[in-house]
Amino acid sequence: MQVVYHDVIIVGAGLAGLRAAVELAGKHDVAVLSKLHPLRSHSGAAQGGISAALGNAEKDSPEWHAYDTIKGSDYLADQYAVEVMCNDAPRAIIELEHLGVPFSRFDDGHIAQRPFGGHTKSFGEAPVRRTCYAADRTGHVCLHTLYEQSLGRNVSFYDEYQVLDLCMVEGAVNGVVAIELKTGRLLLFHSRAVMFATGGYGKAWKTTSNAFANTGDGLGIALNNGIPLEDMEFVQFHPTGLYQLGILITEAARGEGGVLRNGQGERFMERYAPSIKDLAPRDIVSRSIYEEIRTGRGAGPMKDHVLLDLTALSKEKIAAKLPEIESFAKIYLGIDPADEAIPVLPTCHYAMGGIPTDVNGRVTCDPEGSEVFGFWAAGEVACVSVHGANRLGSNSLLDLIVFGRRAGKDISRFLDRVCLAPLPLATGSADRVREMIGRFQGRKDGETIAAVRSDLQDVMMEKVSVFRNEEGLSDAVDECAVLRKRAADIRVSDHSRNFNTELLEAIELQHMVNYSTAVAVSALERRESRGAHGREDYPLRDDAKWLKHSLCFLGEDGKMSVTGKPVDLSLAEARAEFAPKARTY
Ligand SMILES: Cc1cc2nc3c(=O)[nH]c(=O)nc-3n(C[C@H](O)[C@H](O)[C@H](O)COP(=O)(O)OP(=O)(O)OC[C@H]3O[C@@H](n4cnc5c(N)ncnc54)[C@H](O)[C@@H]3O)c2cc1C
Repeated sequence: MQVVYHDVIIVGAGLAGLRAAVELAGKHDVAVLSKLHPLRSHSGAAQGGISAALGNAEKDSPEWHAYDTIKGSDYLADQYAVEVMCNDAPRAIIELEHLGVPFSRFDDGHIAQRPFGGHTKSFGEAPVRRTCYAADRTGHVCLHTLYEQSLGRNVSFYDEYQVLDLCMVEGAVNGVVAIELKTGRLLLFHSRAVMFATGGYGKAWKTTSNAFANTGDGLGIALNNGIPLEDMEFVQFHPTGLYQLGILITEAARGEGGVLRNGQGERFMERYAPSIKDLAPRDIVSRSIYEEIRTGRGAGPMKDHVLLDLTALSKEKIAAKLPEIESFAKIYLGIDPADEAIPVLPTCHYAMGGIPTDVNGRVTCDPEGSEVFGFWAAGEVACVSVHGANRLGSNSLLDLIVFGRRAGKDISRFLDRVCLAPLPLATGSADRVREMIGRFQGRKDGETIAAVRSDLQDVMMEKVSVFRNEEGLSDAVDECAVLRKRAADIRVSDHSRNFNTELLEAIELQHMVNYSTAVAVSALERRESRGAHGREDYPLRDDAKWLKHSLCFLGEDGKMSVTGKPVDLSLAEARAEFAPKARTY
């Protein structure tokens, strides 16, 4: 089998992976592997913006930003990590500007900023304009800029290479196994450092804002290699997905003045979050929407959705600030948002949990934070944790840029001072992958991928979404066990080598059933409500028992188990504002 060597292998060409590549390029030999063309990464779909307390619109401070992030996280975020991110944010934005990101601007030439959910001034007093943006195409322009910068710095790109496994020797990571989509050829990529930036995993839910490629490959591969996943029960539903489609309508629509209305035309968020109303954090708005529908106040003939009303905004403002949203509404629903309210429902959007890392992106593998030698992760696949139980809008793009860069810097130090020569590849590094592919293609009968995937999406949507309870979650855990078995026994009828998408989807399905089980098991275990994890049978947050992260392991017997990990409360120890308290808005 062909072996390719680079000092660093970065898996994933979204903003997290590319930001790390830009940091390392020129100093080390860096390769970026991506199953998609880099510009098709989901980062390019980010609409609303990226947060930073620049204070261009009004007075702001990184401390207020940290307060909002911690409160928004329902106090589960690691506070030092939040401090690092919020303090670095203004610098990170100016750096993006200098790299060439064409941000929208105020008339005086400064980068424009808009309000976003949960971002406030003076420790929760009123909404603040903190989110920088480029119309509603922020991720798109950031991705193009970082891709150009990576090309200019001679990063080696392997586009359309899907990573299937890690290479490990005595607990250390020293490469990956990948398949070249065009030829079906398996290759070993040998390196001194590996970084995962493989993004999120919303595809396990029926209604989702996520791209087709968001199948959580990085998480599945980590589990298979004995690395735990942190805080998997926290999956964010964005309040405004297009009704019946799940396509995202950015929170910027509310930031720019849009309001949510129920079937009676009432602006119901005034009841649930009197001070910041429609700009409350996403977990609160999503639950409020379902509450309205449950109590019979939904909109439409079935009373099964609510309305996002932008009609108070002028046509010119919509065209200038929300052009993508305008075109989505027109194309998919035949609605001009300047004249008519848009039907919306919550849609599965963002994974707060992921591969545990420290603030330098180093992957850790136990409650004490022991490091995995040679392995980093950043972006949505990672759990630093800055988002805790619920992420604030526009904090993800910031997370990617800040922690992608920090991981890059840390890898550079590691290559210069710690790992001066690559560890030898273990024999049989690709055996597990070969065996799996042979098994799928060798079978004459068996179910199709689509049947298993669609049942998984139904289970996760019905039992592991906005409202959860013991009965539903226990069912989901049992059903996931059956689905894992069914997924292992599927049949791949396409035996061709070139662009065999059936085979690739079969492998993705294995990751999906595994991380979904981790979500269901972790959610069943946590008997409280916190952030995006809303338990009907345990409606209150219980700090005495549950102010801790969860780490979910896949045992050698194939069973998942969960243990706790302490939350870093260092800011709370110094200042009362940061101590856990009831979350009111
Ligand atoms: C519709 C939408 C709008 C959003 N809007 C915002 C916003 O306005 N502000 C904000 O802060 N956040 C927003 N988010 C969240 C944010 O965009 C994502 O969290 C973020 O882009 C994830 O970036 P990433 O670099 O971690 O991964 P991604 O951008 O998802 O990239 C993942 C990369 O990994 C590669 N990959 C995956 N698996 C493999 C494999 N097995 N082998 C090889 N390569 C692999 C893919 O090819 C891809 O290049 C939004 C998300 C969505 C879905």
